[in-house]
Amino acid sequence: MPPSSRRKAAPPPLGEARQSQVLQLYGPGAMVDLPDYSLLIGGLDFWNARGCDLIHEERLLKLVCQATGVARIDLRTPPKEVDKLKNISGSIKALRFPEWSVAQKVSERMAFGVPCRARPLVHFRDGCIKDWRRYQDDEGEYALVPVRFVMACPHGHLSDIRWRDFCFRQFGCKNSERLYLLEAGTGNDFTQIYVQSEGGTTRKLADALVTEMSPLGLCQGYTPWLGRNTRDPEKCQTDGEPTKNRLLVRSATNAYFTETISVISLPEEANSLAKRVTELKDDLVLIEAEADVAAALKFNPRLKSGFAGVDPSLLWQAIEAQRGGGPGQVAQPKDEELALLIGPMDGVSSSAEDSLFEADVWRPPNPPAWFRTAIKRVLLVHRLREVQALVGFTRFTARTSSLGGLPIDTTKVNRRAPLANDLRWVPASENKGEGIFLEFDPATIRAWAASDPVAMRAGQFTKAFENEWLASRGLDEVQFPFPGAPYLLLHSLSHLLITEMALECGYGASSIRERIYANSEIGYGILLFTSSSGSEGTLGGLVGAGKRIVAYLEKAFERGQLCSNDPFCSEHDPNHPFDIRPTHGAACHGCELIAETSCEIRNEFLDRALVSPTVSGNPDGDPSFWGFIS
Ligand SMILES: [Zn+2]
Ligand SMILES: [Zn+2]
Ligand SMILES: [Zn+2]
Repeated sequence: MPPSSRRKAAPPPLGEARQSQVLQLYGPGAMVDLPDYSLLIGGLDFWNARGCDLIHEERLLKLVCQATGVARIDLRTPPKEVDKLKNISGSIKALRFPEWSVAQKVSERMAFGVPCRARPLVHFRDGCIKDWRRYQDDEGEYALVPVRFVMACPHGHLSDIRWRDFCFRQFGCKNSERLYLLEAGTGNDFTQIYVQSEGGTTRKLADALVTEMSPLGLCQGYTPWLGRNTRDPEKCQTDGEPTKNRLLVRSATNAYFTETISVISLPEEANSLAKRVTELKDDLVLIEAEADVAAALKFNPRLKSGFAGVDPSLLWQAIEAQRGGGPGQVAQPKDEELALLIGPMDGVSSSAEDSLFEADVWRPPNPPAWFRTAIKRVLLVHRLREVQALVGFTRFTARTSSLGGLPIDTTKVNRRAPLANDLRWVPASENKGEGIFLEFDPATIRAWAASDPVAMRAGQFTKAFENEWLASRGLDEVQFPFPGAPYLLLHSLSHLLITEMALECGYGASSIRERIYANSEIGYGILLFTSSSGSEGTLGGLVGAGKRIVAYLEKAFERGQLCSNDPFCSEHDPNHPFDIRPTHGAACHGCELIAETSCEIRNEFLDRALVSPTVSGNPDGDPSFWGFIS
């Protein structure tokens, strides 16, 4: 369809600048609503990888290999020529899903004595359906709208609800009466939605929510994004038991959670040998062992010129590393980054044209005493690259990474769904931007964290954290230990700083991202950086703001004192019996919560009472960092 005839209501185009959106929203297995129908984004086997550039990032590649268990894998940008969603099947192939629709032929029917708006519920194979688009009967032709409800399991499996089985309460039901979807009221209340047969058999959709009864049956492991009727070879199990299907609203926010891994590129990765190995990898594919290297260089002119003078054993090492093999355990990515950011900049920062990292130390003139106590170093990061890769997805609940940035194995309750039948590459996005890094004085942070009020405040979190947060994710304390007061402090302060800076730097708050570093053995820091995927240049706004960091910090500490929802906000207890937010102290949409794209951990672990004194005071003494340093 030419752009001119595209409907105004069409979703925004998937342009080149939106690579990261593909990673977050339109990856394999995601459901996308279009004006006339709805789609399921196909697995990577169906994408046209030719329009996808290779991204070289050795450290991330290793992490992806480890996470996916695939030894040879590439990082590639999502296809470039996808420029409008209507045309999505060009390079990112999508399938029609769900197969059941509601015909826009409205009549009135009664359900349990209540008059309802009734519309025929039809499958695309029914005789009355013309090419998925129109429903036809003796009375005329009617538009079709894909049904809003499907069924799925936390491991990502997905299928249409077996509407006949559900309506007649009989699995494998042979009854072929016409079905209707009935709605009383606005149609937003599950208890007012019914499925009814022509003969009058009626069932509340709300029954589908009572999972104890298993009204939708057991998960059969269907993976329709990998092809119609495809399913996982193994039986779908959760914690050793067969998984029950759950009702899923297609457009709900819990319908699709991608799992990504991201790293900040370290300067040595600009290493030209590794880069050339990536560029020439198609020519190197026949090399299976070090012994093959010499012959390959001799007979392939591209390799001969590309690797002139390179030692064959070094080249073999680089090939192995590019393929994701090679020796060595994978380090927590954020630990390596922190070591770089607090280390010497000489020989690390480079202003060369192809440099991935350029930063210098900024010393504010006449800093106040509190600043000297709290902040050890400010780095203005003129150039930095973040690379993010998609490794899988889940539904209903997101998977969690460690605070160091590594995926955590939650296979028992929340296995990641496959991205492809044959996984050879994963979509990755490259964000080149600028940023500012604050290193906090580790001695000050330790002394603050060891003080009684802070220990008491942190203690309040641990019960809710263990009973609610870990349990709901199927994690234990070994897999994900409580992050500790320093992490909560830096994270909460980071959100306040992002809000302050966004107001002045010309970026939307959602395009400033954070990385929080809190490692008692390495150090403490906050990295704020811009993420403008696909764009090379930036406004220089964050670096400029870095030079006014003293004022920004002062404003952030001030902002932390009061919220428009106070005193309720400041009095929130993570163990609150009704308002269950087990990782929130004084934190709400009025103060601490920011755009999910900015936050590294989905707006969890926030408490501004650790940053600034709040209105509710504290019987155990003020635990705020500001109170400690000023
Ligand atoms: Zn399943
Ligand atoms: Zn608040
Ligand atoms: Zn955050």
